[in-house]
Order: sequence, then structure tokens, then C-alpha cells
Amino acid sequence: MEPKKYASFIGGAYDYEGEERGVYSPIDGRLVAHVVMATPEKADRAVDAAQDAFKRVWSKTPLSERRRILLRLAEIIQARSDEYALLESLNTGKTLRQTTFMDVPLGIEHLSYFGRSLEFKDSREIVHPEYPGTKGVVQYLPLGVVAAVAPWNVPFLMAVWKVAPALLAGNTVVLKPSHFTPLTALELAEDAKRAGLPDGVLNVVVGEGRVVGDALIQNTKVAHVSFTGSTKTGLDVAKKAAGLRRITLELGGKSPNIVFEDADIDRAAKGVLFGIYLNSGQLCESGSRLLVHSAVKQRLLAKIVEYMRRMNPGNPLDMETDVSAITTAEQKNKIELMVDSAVTQGARLVYSKDITKSVPEGGLYYPPTLLDNVPPHTEAAREEIFGPVLTVLEFEDEEEAVAIANDTEYGLAAGVWSQDIDKARRVAEAIEAGTVWINEYHLLSAAAPRGGFKKSGIGRELGLEGLLELTQTRHLFINQGGGDLSEVAYSLVVRE
Ligand code: NAD
Repeated sequence: MEPKKYASFIGGAYDYEGEERGVYSPIDGRLVAHVVMATPEKADRAVDAAQDAFKRVWSKTPLSERRRILLRLAEIIQARSDEYALLESLNTGKTLRQTTFMDVPLGIEHLSYFGRSLEFKDSREIVHPEYPGTKGVVQYLPLGVVAAVAPWNVPFLMAVWKVAPALLAGNTVVLKPSHFTPLTALELAEDAKRAGLPDGVLNVVVGEGRVVGDALIQNTKVAHVSFTGSTKTGLDVAKKAAGLRRITLELGGKSPNIVFEDADIDRAAKGVLFGIYLNSGQLCESGSRLLVHSAVKQRLLAKIVEYMRRMNPGNPLDMETDVSAITTAEQKNKIELMVDSAVTQGARLVYSKDITKSVPEGGLYYPPTLLDNVPPHTEAAREEIFGPVLTVLEFEDEEEAVAIANDTEYGLAAGVWSQDIDKARRVAEAIEAGTVWINEYHLLSAAAPRGGFKKSGIGRELGLEGLLELTQTRHLFINQGGGDLSEVAYSLVVRE
């Protein structure tokens, strides 16, 4: 079958004018699709389309109707979920098992959640304790055009997270997925139109960050910039997007997974593995630093290596494969450099899985790797590797565990493994991170806000907190029938 041709989706239609590029799969280098790249002018056109749709239709569309369209979109994608899973795998290199059983169903569930949940209300009544006889209404109003910029690692889920809450809150959206992985976001925009979303309410522009992203975040008609990506780019975006508008930044991490001596070691080993090797470590919340109590270190590492040996490398499209490809050549190169430099500086390679003979030719792969004694000053110890590399650190007591966990500029997520729930909770509450799992890892809920402390970001996405960030409030002060308190106030200046 001839690969499909995509382009930016603006005002309800693909705009095929411009430079066409091939999208190649990190699985084996095959051509997956053709995409026409946008330009800064196209980004501006998309913002205009979004602003027009906001004023003309979406800001006047009742919340119940917005919900209905999101639910309809979830149904349409559900009916095509296998196609989405295959496309996401081909574009990102994720295993088909992961896209089929995690990324796509979770995205559909999150779309339905925003369509179904009654937690978000567009207004609430209040009483004014100072003024009996009056009432107040607080309205949660949309901001206008949301410009959303997304990374390459979870394109479908990220498109859902950027689009569904923003639309539910009554905003219109211009989404810029990573130019490496734009395909499922574009399919979602097409399906949103099929679900009845009016033209211009959701636009997707495809292009490079420094060109199209830059133009988008600096467009003064944009009311909210919602960025997800690396901390380095996030800092740049924060400066450029500054002005009288909202901004949320979901950035990188260096998350600790802390295993205490009283943890269920087998379960913890599985959780640690899942925490770092899912999607070959290319997840912002990947538990890349294993902190383990010295008393159980050897036992835990032995278990982890045992499970690493059992991992099945192969073609990610084979349902038996456990190892995802690395999505971009730049990322693979970065991982190699960081690990090689750490090893040169004294890190001990505990285990590196031999995958070379099993993975498809022409693809991008990096073996699941376990490193001990990583010198603390190295880049591998301090910076996000964003690959299948777990580093090991040892602690003696709770206090030391917390100190090591917090000894990072990042604060996105953490895991705590202990059968003593009071202790686990105490430790979790001492960790500077936006999400802390206790005896779990990576499980995401649309009902819960996600975001980072410190250099991992500003603001929250998902949950009620994330939704409210996409709104502004209006207070209506209503006097339904007199009341003498205001008379008292008026009498300060009004003489009858
Ligand atoms: P990146 O920062 O390179 O790019 C992210 C997005 O920003 C892309 O769409 C890119 O085209 C765009 N961009 C780049 N330069 C830009 C500029 N000057 N102006 C405007 N836009 C620009 O990140 P990436 O390599 O695509 O993704 C990996 C990073 O994303 C990792 O650091 C990871 O931790 C982070 N991430 C964070 C979360 C979270 O929720 N906190 C989730 C997923 C990924």
C-alpha cells in the first residue's frame, strides 16, 4: 500500500502546499508516510482559524455538547484502535504490544474520561458572607486559543492530553506535534472532524520546533502556551512565550525508584524494570535512578538481571517483543555518548542485553542497560538519559534515601517500594516530585494532575487542576431583590 500523505490540518482540511518529507520508521527504516511541512505563516493561519472558530462557534457551544463530541471521538478511535496502534508503533518504534495494550487504550480512556466526568463544571454558586440576600456565580470560562507543543515520545497520548481538556474547557487548539512523530495526532484531528467538531476548533501544524513551534508560541493571539518537552527547550519557550498569557511547562525528569529492605523484592524488581525499560526508557517519568537499601541490593539486582535476561528483543511489530526501538537517531546517539562517557569515567556495566542479532536491520536500537557506581558528577548520573539505562545508588536509611532522591534539579516523579505503608507514605511526602507512586510505577490517571517540581516544569496537566489552568473565572454578583446592606453602603455617599 502506498504510504499516506499527511499535511498540517488547518480549518478542518489538510493544507498540502509546501515541502514534502518522508517519515521513516525507527523499526527498520521503512517509509511510513509523507508529510508536508508547515511554515511560520501556516502556523499563523492555524492560529487565525482557531481564533475565528473560538469566537464564531466553540465559545458558544454548551459544555454538554463539548462532552458529547469528545465521547463520540473516543468511540470513533476505539473502532480504529488497531490502525492507531500500528501507526503509532511504526512512527515511534514502540512495541506493538505497548501501543495496543497501553498507549492507544489509555488515550481512548482519557478522551472518554473528559467526555464523561462531571467533575469539571462551568460555574458554581457561592454565598457572600458579607452581603446576605445576594448571591454569587463563579464561571469557568475558556481562555481562547491554546497553542500546544508536544514531544516525540508519546504522540497519541500527548495529543489527547493536550486536546481533550482544552476543548472541554471551551478553548480552541493549535497542536504542534514533534515533526518526528506527527501521524496519530493528525489522524486524531481527522477523526475529531468526523465526530462533529466544527472546523478550526482543532488544528494540527507539522514542522520543526525552531521554525513552526517558535512562530506558534510567539503569536500574540495565543492565550495559553502548553509546552511539553525537554527542560532546555522549555526554558527557551518560557522566555519567548512570555507576556500577558498563561504558560504551562511539562519538562524532563531524573526520577528515583526507591526500594526499601522490607519491600516485596520480586514485585519491586518487576516495577523497577517496568519503570525504566517501558518504551526503552523514553518516557519523561521513567524511573531512571534505582535507590536501593544496601541490605537488599545484591538480591534485587540479581532479580532485575534475571528479568532483563528474559526480556525478548525482536521486531517491535511482533507481539512477543518486549524492547522498543529508539525513536530518533539523535536520541540514540545521545544515549550512547552518555553511557560510554560514564563507563570511561568509572561506572560499572552490570548488565547490557545482547540485542543486535534479534532486532531488525536498518532500525534504531539500544540495549537495556544496568549501570552501578556511576560517578555522581557525570552527565549520566545527573541528566536525563531518556533511554533504557538504569543507574544504581545505595542507601542505609530513610533519611539518606530521601536526601539522594531529592539531590537532583528535577522533580517529576518517584516510586517508593515498601510493605510498611506508613513509612512509604512518609518518604513519598518528603520527595520533591509531582507524582509519587507507592508500590507501583508509571500508572497514569486522567483524574490526577501531573506535572513537575523544580526544573521539571510549571503548572499541571490533567485532573481538575489541569483543567482549571485552561480557564479564567468571571464572578457575577447578583442582588435578586433589594436587601438593606448595600443601602448602608450607598448611604456613605448617597443622601436621600
Ligand atoms: P524537545 O524539547 O526537543 O521538543 C519538544 C517540542 O518542542 C517538539 O515539538 C519540538 O519541535 C518543539 N520545539 C523545539 N524547539 C522549539 C522552540 N525553540 N520553540 C518552540 N518549540 C520548539 O523534546 P523532545 O526531544 O521532543 O522530547 C523529549 C523530552 O520531552 C524529554 O526531556 C522528556 O522528559 C520530555 N517530556 C516531558 C513530559 C512531561 O509530561 N513532563 C512528557 C513527555 C516528554
